Amino acid sequence: MDLFEYQGKQYFSRYGIAVSPGDIADTVEEAVAVAERVGYPVVIKAQVKVGGRGKAGGVQLASTSEEVKFHAGNILGLDIKGHIVHRVWVERSSDIAKEYYVSFTLDRPNKVHLGMLSAQGGVEIEVVAEENPDAISFLSIDPLRGLDLAAARKWVDEAQLDEVAQEQAAQLLVKLYECYTKGDCDLAEINPLILTPENTVHALDAKVTLDENASFRHPEWEEFRATETEDPREKMAKEKGLNYIGLDGTVGIIANGAGLAMSTLDVVNQVGGTAANFLDIGGGANADVMASALEVINADPKVKAIFVNIFGGITRVDEVAKGVLEALQRVSISSPIVLRLDGTNAVEGRAILAPHESDTLITEPTMLEAARRAVALANA
Ligand code: GDP
Ligand code: MN
Repeated sequence: MDLFEYQGKQYFSRYGIAVSPGDIADTVEEAVAVAERVGYPVVIKAQVKVGGRGKAGGVQLASTSEEVKFHAGNILGLDIKGHIVHRVWVERSSDIAKEYYVSFTLDRPNKVHLGMLSAQGGVEIEVVAEENPDAISFLSIDPLRGLDLAAARKWVDEAQLDEVAQEQAAQLLVKLYECYTKGDCDLAEINPLILTPENTVHALDAKVTLDENASFRHPEWEEFRATETEDPREKMAKEKGLNYIGLDGTVGIIANGAGLAMSTLDVVNQVGGTAANFLDIGGGANADVMASALEVINADPKVKAIFVNIFGGITRVDEVAKGVLEALQRVSISSPIVLRLDGTNAVEGRAILAPHESDTLITEPTMLEAARRAVALANA
């Protein structure tokens, strides 16, 4: 789960990482009230889960309430790379002497944590990596040893952070590493981490991705989840316990097994169609699961045809066929359904469906033929 900047900053604060005083606002009036409270000048920042807000006009300085009204009015409702701004973060503006970059993430192939530190922050790190790769100092961190202050001090020196910033930065890096590990982050990034003219170091931005696999030990993540602007289809699927990812196309997909579901998307694409979703119903393709899957796909107004692609292994195709019929009695589906059933008990399964076949319930013998049929129906 990705956090908004303001949530990332709240998360950082729990680990003693310095951020600027500020608050969120959903309206221009609220933004002015926050600015009055934290004191001018302030910076008004669009809260969207996408980078490059500065360039898109989503980060503005304001010295008076008039300026806050003007900028907050412009930023609220702004479209930044397809994300509409519904909320701004207003914080006391900082003077910037230097902008640095720091992040921790997982280096999967090497089974270590990877720290990235650069004295050239403020710009996108991908740009630095391309144009000036030597300006990034990489640190592999053994998860069993962690990052101590001595190692952090060496690291800030290697990365050539300014002398006056080094001790504060080293201490901050240790705290950020704690936040990243104990806080179960997949990513903890600060860009820019700044040095002020008064020689203090603190975080101006926060990019945090939480590791959902660790959510069982973080009941406090619920508050972050509450603001998640989730795809309504994905939300519905999650509530039903389905492994679903929403896409933009017109062919709804139901398959058993992640690999088959992926191949199904490919085949649909190959024959000129577009998938509306990825959906793996796994091994438990019973009537309940099938009904839930059909319901979620049916709720998607873009879907024009549904392709059910089942290869029976442990899951028996006759059970799936019964499941489909039972599900169709429970849910009224507005798109035609094309089924390809193969594998264990495929013959029995097809026999169960045969008497029910119609213009809206069609079986095809192969995956390719079924894909063609579903795509033809979707494009009709
Ligand atoms: P991003 O563009 O989405 O990464 O948003 P950031 O939070 O990183 O802000 C973009 C840029 O705005 C930063 O790199 C800074 O140069 C500038 N900025 C952000 N906060 C302040 C501030 O408090 N004072 C000043 N002077 N500039 C700021
Ligand atoms: Mn940034």
